[in-house]
Amino acid sequence: ATNRLRQPTARSKSRHLFHRAKAVFPDGTTRATVERDPLPIYVERGEGAYLVDVDGNRFLDLNNFTTLIHGHGFAPVSEAVVDLMRSGTCFANPTEHEIALAELLTARIPAIEHVRFVNSGTEAVMFAIKAARAFTGRHAIARIEGAYHGAYDWAEAGQGVAPGKGGWDPGPTATPAYRGTPPSVADEVHLLRFNDVEGLERRLGEISDRIACVLIDPMPSRAGLIHPEPAFIEALSNTARKYGILILADEVLNLRQSYGGASARYGLTPDLITAGKIIGGGFPIGAIGGRAEVMRVFGSDETKPLLPQGGTFSANPVSMVAGRVAMEAMTQDAYDRLEQIGDRLRDGLQACIARHEAAFSVTGAASLFRIHPKRLAPREFRDAYLSASEAALMRTMGRQFLELGILLPRGAAACLSTAMTDSDIDLILNAFDEFLATEAK
Ligand code: PLP
Repeated sequence: ATNRLRQPTARSKSRHLFHRAKAVFPDGTTRATVERDPLPIYVERGEGAYLVDVDGNRFLDLNNFTTLIHGHGFAPVSEAVVDLMRSGTCFANPTEHEIALAELLTARIPAIEHVRFVNSGTEAVMFAIKAARAFTGRHAIARIEGAYHGAYDWAEAGQGVAPGKGGWDPGPTATPAYRGTPPSVADEVHLLRFNDVEGLERRLGEISDRIACVLIDPMPSRAGLIHPEPAFIEALSNTARKYGILILADEVLNLRQSYGGASARYGLTPDLITAGKIIGGGFPIGAIGGRAEVMRVFGSDETKPLLPQGGTFSANPVSMVAGRVAMEAMTQDAYDRLEQIGDRLRDGLQACIARHEAAFSVTGAASLFRIHPKRLAPREFRDAYLSASEAALMRTMGRQFLELGILLPRGAAACLSTAMTDSDIDLILNAFDEFLATEAK
C-alpha cells in the first residue's frame, strides 16, 4: 500500500543485541517499560518525529514516554547543551540556568509559585507527597485507582489493580503493586475512582483527618487517558478544601496539555503539582511546585526546612538548559498547532471506527491519544481495563503498527510532537484503517 513506510523486516542486529543484553540484564532490558513484543528495537538514532533502529528500519515514534515534545534531536536543545558542556555539567553550586527554568515555569503554570528540581517524575511525586505530609501533619494519601505515578511505594500502591474472580472489589485501601513493598504502606493509600463524585465525597469524608493529599493526574494515562468530568473536578476541589486535604496534581505527563498545564486546562487549582518529562528537553528531570505557603516546608528565609531536599544531580545545568530551551519553543502557537493536529488525529480515528462499525473508542486531548478496544469510551480505569482477549487484540494492533513503521505504546498514552506533519497523522490514520479492515471484523 502507498501509505507504508519501508516495512521493517530486518531485525538481525536488534536480535543480536538482545542476546548480548540477556547476559547482563536480569530480563534482557534495563526497564520494565521497554517494549519487547516481539523483541526490543535497539535505536541507532532519532531524527525529528522518527527513529532509526540498528537494522536501518525507520519508525514514526509515538512513544518516547511522552517526553520529546519537539521530537528527536531538536537542534536548539542540542546546540545549547553542546555549548554548555564545554563549561562543565555538574556543580555543588547553584547556576543561573536553574533560575531561568524556574522563572519560565512560575510565569506559565498558575499552580507553581515556588518550585524545586529533582531528576525524575518518581522523585518529584515522592517529595511532593512528603511535602503534603510535612505541611498537614497527616500521613495517609488518597489516589485514583489504576493511575500511574512512578515508583515511590505510596504512589505505586493502587496502580496494579485488577478485578478478582467475582469482579471488582479492590477494597478501600490499595494493595502493594508489587513484591518489595511492605503491606503497611498500602494501609496508608486510599483508593478513589476517577469521575466518581459520590464515592469521592463519601470516602474522603470517612477518612478526612488522616489524609494529607489527594494525588491525582488530571487525565491519568495508564488509567485510560480519560477526560476529567467538570463535576468531579468541582467535587474534588470542594471536598479537599472542606477537610484541609491538599490537592497534589501529578502533571509529569500531562503538563504538555497546554501552556498553563493540565490543571489550568481542566479548572483544577492544586496546592502542589509535579512536573517532569517535557520540561527537561529530553534530559532527566522532575519538579515539585506549588503554593509558596506549602513550599515553605522546603525552607524559607525565616524558617528551617521541615523537609530538607537535595540530590546530587538535582537542578543539574544540562537538564535546566535543555528544559528551558525546549519550553521556550513551546509558544502558545506551538500548543495551538499540537492541539489542531491532535484533534485531526482523534477525529480521524473516530471516523475510521464509525466507518468500520468497530468496537473501538479513542480518548485523549491536545498532543495525547489512546485507542481502546471498547465500544464505549471509558469514564474510569475499570472501563478501560482490558480482558485477556482485548489485550491480545491490542498486541496484534501494536504489531501491525510496528510492521507499518509506527511505534505505538501499549496501555499508555501515545504522543505527538511539533516535529510531526499532516502526512505523519495520515500515516497513523491509514495504519488504523488497515488494522480495522483486517482484524476487527
Ligand atoms: N507520574 C506520571 C503521571 C508519569 O506518567 C510518570 C512517568 O511516566 C511518572 C510520574 C514517573 O516519572 P519518571 O519516569 O520520570 O520517574
